[in-house]
Amino acid sequence: MAKDSELLTSVSKTSTDSEFFSPMPAGYKPGRTKYLFVMGTVMSGLGKGIFSSCLAKLMQDKGLKVAPIKLEGYLNIDSGTLNPFRHGEVFILDDGMECDMDLGTYERMLDQNLSRANFCTSGQIFNDVLNKERHGDYLGRDVQMIPHVTGEVKLRLRNLAMKTNADVVFVEIGGTVGDLENAYFIEAMRELAYEEGQNSSCFVALTYILEPQTLGEQKSKAAQLGIKQLMQFGVQPDIIACRCASPVTDTVRQKISVYSNVPFERVISLPDSASIYTIPAMLRDRGLDFEVARLLKIEERLNLRHERKAWAQWCDFTDKIEAAQKPVTIAITGKYTSVRDSYASILNALEHAGIALGAKVNVKWVETTSITDANVSEPLGDVDGVIVPGGFGTRGTEGKICCIKFAREDHIPYLGICFGFQMAVIEFARSVCGLKGANSTEVEPNCPEPVIDYLPEQLKIEGLGGNMRLGGHDIELKPDTLAWRLFLEARTARMRFRHRYEVAPRYIELLEKAGLVFSGKAPNQPIMQILELPSHPYFIGTQAHPCLTSRPLRPQPMFVGLVAAALKKRYLQNDFPDPVSAVQKLCS
Ligand code: GLN
Repeated sequence: MAKDSELLTSVSKTSTDSEFFSPMPAGYKPGRTKYLFVMGTVMSGLGKGIFSSCLAKLMQDKGLKVAPIKLEGYLNIDSGTLNPFRHGEVFILDDGMECDMDLGTYERMLDQNLSRANFCTSGQIFNDVLNKERHGDYLGRDVQMIPHVTGEVKLRLRNLAMKTNADVVFVEIGGTVGDLENAYFIEAMRELAYEEGQNSSCFVALTYILEPQTLGEQKSKAAQLGIKQLMQFGVQPDIIACRCASPVTDTVRQKISVYSNVPFERVISLPDSASIYTIPAMLRDRGLDFEVARLLKIEERLNLRHERKAWAQWCDFTDKIEAAQKPVTIAITGKYTSVRDSYASILNALEHAGIALGAKVNVKWVETTSITDANVSEPLGDVDGVIVPGGFGTRGTEGKICCIKFAREDHIPYLGICFGFQMAVIEFARSVCGLKGANSTEVEPNCPEPVIDYLPEQLKIEGLGGNMRLGGHDIELKPDTLAWRLFLEARTARMRFRHRYEVAPRYIELLEKAGLVFSGKAPNQPIMQILELPSHPYFIGTQAHPCLTSRPLRPQPMFVGLVAAALKKRYLQNDFPDPVSAVQKLCS
């Protein structure tokens, strides 16, 4: 397979005597890879990523190679500097890319690790164009939005097609049609569809049907106008998916069909659904998978035997969703508690573990700014488990430490993620080792006992973008520990990281002597990555983000362990497996 650098250098340079500019990677054959474009009209937040990933899953089940890509209109180079409160969580890929949370949806739905080639922002596009201009790649040309910037977008998509050898590239355009910052993406799609030839691309418009309470009926005008706007760009949608709180009526579907030249059968109703994992079945019931195969003329590439097996496995999983009824309550502390999207991967990981164990996991959000040792039993007295998730800065940290102390002393199952791992070290240092002044230098730069301090490599770094310790790393597991058992006695486990601080190496011995076990560390450095307390039913923390690699059919072991321990605590019954046996049963 060609490397990115080879692909880019092989791109033909432009010339001054032609208006055409459509760079292609070496060896690229137009028409071989098909493209499916997903765009939104009326409003953002329609679930374009969910729709696109579910459709991609159906095609992948049929033996096709699929590659998703998200195009973001904003000028940031990646999502690393975005506030999760505004944009949802920052999802980290194995190669260290900090990207939009939709990439998490694709990874989970497709059970596929993605890379930076699957995520593209306007910032990256313009950065590349400007670098090429300085390099002299455009020869004597004035560099223009069309054809140069759109050419760069098409090149990205074709590079992805080459790199992955995909049958279908699923292109999701962020925001909505009509956003100024997305207009050139849509123009690039239009050009690409033309250049690739007949039956090479399929345009899907997601739209929203309003249902004002005062009228009590569905209204399609906003959807019609949104689709018209798309058609003004020269794009004729092939499929229109109508999102709505309830099933969309045939009358509304007919109206949309009349106004958009899209056959009635291809104007589909997509009502809200309790779990995203039931959406593939919804799309399949409407025949969308075969409709797409017909539009792209790839019927002969489908492997239906592969599909039967994949679909049976998926249905086994979705059947368990309804059966997962035993309630358990897990508290999640954090400052972004009003926005569920900020913790999307954690919620997914809990859902996966819950479904696997037959549990309905209810989340109790706990805002920690006013929590003290005196009042912590109010929010946590009735919960079955506690998670302190990743975080930055100082707000609410003392409250988080009180929650961890309460979980440790009252034997409530605990999972600390990244910041929650660091806070657990501080709590232990203060309460058990007697280091009253223990803290993180992130929270208190001149604290007397900096048990959590800068990673040495971070001291040299300036600015905030893309420079934390990022991405997938192997963790060396210590034999005969809880972590080692949860990872089925493997020598290493791979997880994804995003941090600047670590356990200060000079405190490790003291902490271990007092009973804290560091059961996972970086293979060749003294970076502590998993901690546990053997005297506690389930107290574990990790510097990594285990939630990022949980998949529906392969729930993440640390989460399975937490939910199993929570079930055991709540129901006090011996017929519940302990965390390790639960993982052994499910994950082996
Ligand atoms: N703020 C902490 C650090 O930078 C933890 C980061 C996180 O939770 N992702 O190390």
